[in-house]
Amino acid sequence: MQSPHSSSTAEQSEQKSTGSFNPVLLSFGGNLDGTMERFERALRRLSMSGFNVLKVSGPLVNPAVGCEPGAGDFTNISVLGDWNGTPLELLDLTQSIEVEEGRPADHPHWVSRTIDIDIILMGFQTIDHPRLKVPHPLAASRDFVLVPSREILPQELMRFLEKA
Ligand code: ATP
Ligand code: CA
Ligand code: CA
Repeated sequence: MQSPHSSSTAEQSEQKSTGSFNPVLLSFGGNLDGTMERFERALRRLSMSGFNVLKVSGPLVNPAVGCEPGAGDFTNISVLGDWNGTPLELLDLTQSIEVEEGRPADHPHWVSRTIDIDIILMGFQTIDHPRLKVPHPLAASRDFVLVPSREILPQELMRFLEKA
């Protein structure tokens, strides 16, 4: 694992990690019918594609803030896993799962969605790539990310996330 102080450039998004355990934190969200079934399918698909799922938080249900009027409550979970590919390969995988689960690739921000999968942390790495910012820039200010993550994240990574 890298030190909390390591930084990186866009190049790191193309590099496979070298350590044996590369903890990755994902956040799933959704607020349309069948959210938990979609989450289950997404977890299976991740597992089949080289993302080793280690821990899954319980669901957090919270009101849709900032979405269209009448939008249903969101359900969020956090997922801790191990990934040995590059960060961009993981983004490609999570985006392909979103599309498979009925989310158009050109889906606008802040509207109801079948499933949203965000990459919150990749160990202590900082990635600043046009397609991928890690830690996720808004995660530290979102209770719907922090609360479920507290259930499953090693303390050192949780402290890193809270300060991100
Ligand atoms: P928010 O960023 O506020 O959570 P959102 O999840 O609704 O909004 P999306 O439409 O899902 O936003 O994603 C927009 C783009 O964000 C994606 O095309 C992706 O390339 C980029 N992106 C940057 N960093 C990340 C990250 N850490 N995880 C997932 N996507 C990211
Ligand atoms: Ca999101
Ligand atoms: Ca997203």
